[in-house]
Amino acid sequence: MAATFPPPILRRLRRVPDGTVAVLCYHTLGTDDQGPDVWTALRIRDFRAQIKLLRRWFDVVDMDTAFGQAQVRTQGKPLAVVTFDDGDIGLYRHLIPFLAQDQVPVTVYVATSQIQTGVPYWFDRVMNALQAPIAIDLTLDELGKWRFGVQSGAARWQLLGPLLETMKTLVPERRALLTEKIEAQAGRGAEQRAALGPMSVAQLQALAACPGVTIGAHSHCHNLLDQIPMKQARESVLTSRALLQEWTGQDVRHFAYPNGNHNAALRGMLRDAGFATAVALDNGLALPGGDAFALSRIAVGRHDPMWRIKLRLAGL
Ligand SMILES: [Zn+2]
Repeated sequence: MAATFPPPILRRLRRVPDGTVAVLCYHTLGTDDQGPDVWTALRIRDFRAQIKLLRRWFDVVDMDTAFGQAQVRTQGKPLAVVTFDDGDIGLYRHLIPFLAQDQVPVTVYVATSQIQTGVPYWFDRVMNALQAPIAIDLTLDELGKWRFGVQSGAARWQLLGPLLETMKTLVPERRALLTEKIEAQAGRGAEQRAALGPMSVAQLQALAACPGVTIGAHSHCHNLLDQIPMKQARESVLTSRALLQEWTGQDVRHFAYPNGNHNAALRGMLRDAGFATAVALDNGLALPGGDAFALSRIAVGRHDPMWRIKLRLAGL
């Protein structure tokens, strides 16, 4: 079978070059019937269905296999890679049991500061704080009032997503203060709702020891690396690699830009530092001959229906 891409059922929609790789970006997994009710936490049953679909249309491989050879693959099915960003505890709870039953190669890009300190990143803290109905007043910070009712699923994410996107654009110090303010307004109970948070070092080690798991770096600070000084960005990248190599014993050769943000200086820095690849987050396919330090990925979350995933796998 020729390695035509996209798969036959989608070929009529768009033809992309042989050698194109579909790289999927997930964040974490949650139980089928409970939360956390946020876009980043995919239900296990949906993950299982998506892996089944991928296997039907692609050979699911690791980063080294997908991007290790220069020549374009012309035989067999096209290639797909499954990746997870951040290092949330949901991976320990749900991905390890999944992999015990169904060995699929996965790359897990880990941001190390939260693993080292045990303190979740700001976005997890905000999502944890806003799981229950609540009104947040950020008018003093010129960010207005936010009311989160009893909505769930995609409707709740339509409220929550814009607040998180707004906060992403702030300088880290201001964002940290706002995160504390939101937690304070959420009051007691927010901690009990803390469903999102980092793995411990021991939990990460258990995940890294599973067959087929590749550990990649995702910076130490998880700040948007194109918005902080290059020296700081470089230190953050190298610190995350050193810690992950120490903790897991793996040679860490792959990197994911936090939020997918990158520029020419960052790409060059990663190349000089000896990484093999770096992935972005632009909902595209990784085309053959593209920059190995700006590989496209398709982001998939809890509220993405299967038809949208299929269209993205077709490059649409
Ligand atoms: Zn991330």
